[in-house]
Amino acid sequence: MKLRIGQGFDVHAFVAGRPLILGGEHLPFELGLAGHSDADVLLHAITDALLGAAGLGDIGRLYPDDDERWRGADSLLLLRGAMHQVRAAGWRVGNVDVTLICEAPKIAPHAAAMARNIAAALDITASQVSIKGKTSEKLGFTGRREGIAAMAVVLLIGDDARRADVE
Ligand code: MG
Repeated sequence: MKLRIGQGFDVHAFVAGRPLILGGEHLPFELGLAGHSDADVLLHAITDALLGAAGLGDIGRLYPDDDERWRGADSLLLLRGAMHQVRAAGWRVGNVDVTLICEAPKIAPHAAAMARNIAAALDITASQVSIKGKTSEKLGFTGRREGIAAMAVVLLIGDDARRADVE
C-alpha cells in the first residue's frame, strides 16, 4: 500500500466585523478572522496538509491571495478543488487530524459539524476526521486572543485504480 503524509499550518488574526467561520461552520462569536478568502484557518491548514502529502504545492500556489477570484471565497470550495487535484494524482484520504489553538471560542461543541463538512469535501466519512481544540495557556498571540492557529495532518493512500506518482 502506498502511503504519504502531509502537514499543514495556518494562522489568521481576529478582526471585528467579519463572521467567524471554522471548518465551514459559522460560529457565534464577537470577532471573525481577517483574510482574503473567508479566512477559515482550519480548512486552510487541512488544504496545505492535503496538497503537501501529494507533493502538489500549497494553498497559496493554487489560490493566490492577490487573485480577485478568491476574495471572500468559501474555503470548503478551495478544499474541494485541492481534493480534486489530489484524487486525479491517484490518492484518497486515509484520515485527517487537526488541532485548533485558541482561548475562545470553544471548539468541541462544533467539532462534529466541522468534521461532517470536511468529510464531505474530501469524500470520506466523518469518523476519518478528528478535530481538537486547545488553548495555549494564555501564552503568545493565541493566548492574548489575537488570532487562531491551526495544525493539520493528512494521510493519503494510493488508489491502485488510479495513477499514484510514487516510487
Ligand atoms: Mg489562511
